[in-house]
Amino acid sequence: MTTMIPYGRQNISEADIQAVVDVLRSDYLTQGPAVPAFEQSIVDYCSVQHAVAVNSATSALHIACLALGVGKGDIVWTTPITFVASANCALYCGAQIDFVDIDPHTYNMSVERLAEKLAHAEAICKLPKVVIPVHLCGQACDMASIYKLSQHYGFKIIEDASHAIGGKYLDEPIGNCCYSDITIFSFHPVKIITTGEGGIAVTNNHLLAKHMHLLRSHGISNTITDMQPRPAQEIWNYQQIALGFNYRMTDMQAALGVSQIRRLDEFVAKRHAIAKRYDELLADMPIFTPWQHTDSYSGYHLYVIRLKLDEINKTQRQVYEAIIAAGILVNLHYIPVYRQPYFEEMGFKLGYCLQAEQYYSEAISIPLYPNLTEAQQEQVVTVIQKEICNE
Ligand SMILES: *Cc1c(COP(=O)(O)O)cnc(C)c1O
Repeated sequence: MTTMIPYGRQNISEADIQAVVDVLRSDYLTQGPAVPAFEQSIVDYCSVQHAVAVNSATSALHIACLALGVGKGDIVWTTPITFVASANCALYCGAQIDFVDIDPHTYNMSVERLAEKLAHAEAICKLPKVVIPVHLCGQACDMASIYKLSQHYGFKIIEDASHAIGGKYLDEPIGNCCYSDITIFSFHPVKIITTGEGGIAVTNNHLLAKHMHLLRSHGISNTITDMQPRPAQEIWNYQQIALGFNYRMTDMQAALGVSQIRRLDEFVAKRHAIAKRYDELLADMPIFTPWQHTDSYSGYHLYVIRLKLDEINKTQRQVYEAIIAAGILVNLHYIPVYRQPYFEEMGFKLGYCLQAEQYYSEAISIPLYPNLTEAQQEQVVTVIQKEICNE
C-alpha cells in the first residue's frame, strides 16, 4: 500500500531546524530574545501595533477574553462550525456561550443571523459582551458588517484567525485589527505556519496588549510604574498584580516562528495553487467546492468539499470511511460545537443551528498543504471520484 496522505502537514526547512538549534546552543531557552523578535515579525506582517505570543491559540483566546473583561454573568457568541477552543475560552472565564448559525456559502458566521439574534437579545437584555467570528478555512468573515453591528450593540470582537494567517480581507492583512479589538492566530503544526505548539494575540490597543502580557506570565510585572510602593529597604524585584497563568511561548518555538514567517507568503500562494487545481479537477463531480467571497483572499488552511448527497448513492460516512481506507486521511471541520456532549449538557439541542447541521452532514476536508505533490493531488481526486461518482 502507498503511504498515507494527511489532510494537513507542516513544512520544515533546514533553515527552520538551524534556527531552533541556534536557540538550543544559546543562553536562553525561554524568556530570551526570540519571543520579542517573533512578536515583532507578526506586528510587521499584519500591520498591527502589538503582539503577545503564547503557548497556544487556546491560551490566546483565554487571555483575550479576560483582557476584554469577560467574566461571570457575561455572554459570548461564536460560530458552531469551529474548533471547540473558540467556545471554551468563554467558559474558562465563567461566562455563558451561545452560537450564531453559519452562512451557507462561506460557512462563516452569518451576518443576517447575527443581526437577528442581536435584535432579539437586546429585547430580552441578553446582549453578548464579546463576539468571536472565526475565519473558517482561512476565508475572512464579513468583518465590516460585524464591526458595524458591534458599534450599534456595544459588543467587543475577537477574530479567531487560527486558519487565516497570510490571508487578506479587503486587500489588507488579516490581523490588522481594523474591525476587531483582538485577533488571535494558531501555530499548531496543521495550521499555515507552525511553532510546534503556539499562538499569538494581536491588537492596536496598548492597554489590552499590556493586560494580555501580564496574564501570560502569572500576572507578574517588574515594571516599576506598575508596582505598588513598598518600604524602600525591602527587595521588590517583581510583583504579582493580577491572577495570570504560565502561557509563555519558548524561545525554540519563537525562533521556529521567525523562520517560518519568512515563507508564509510562499506557503499561502502554494495553497492557492493547489486549491485552484482542486477546483478544476473536482468541477464536474457531485460536490460543492469552496465558494470564495471577492472581499477575501483566503489563507486556505483547509479545502472543504460538500457532498451533494442526493446525487450520490452513499452516505457521507460511507464516503468518508472509504476515502480513509484508500489512504487519504480526510477529516471533518467541524462537528457543530454545541453537539459535543459537554455542550449538550448545558442544554443545547439538535436543530439549534440548521445551516451548521446541514454543513456538518455534507462536509469533508481533503488534503491541502504546501508539500502536497501534483501526483498526490491526482491520487486524492481519483479516490474521491471512485467513491462518489456512480460507476
Ligand atoms: C486550531 C484552532 C484553535 C486552537 O489552536 P491551538 O493553538 O491548538 O490552541 C482555535 N480555534 C480554531 C478555529 C482552530 O482551528
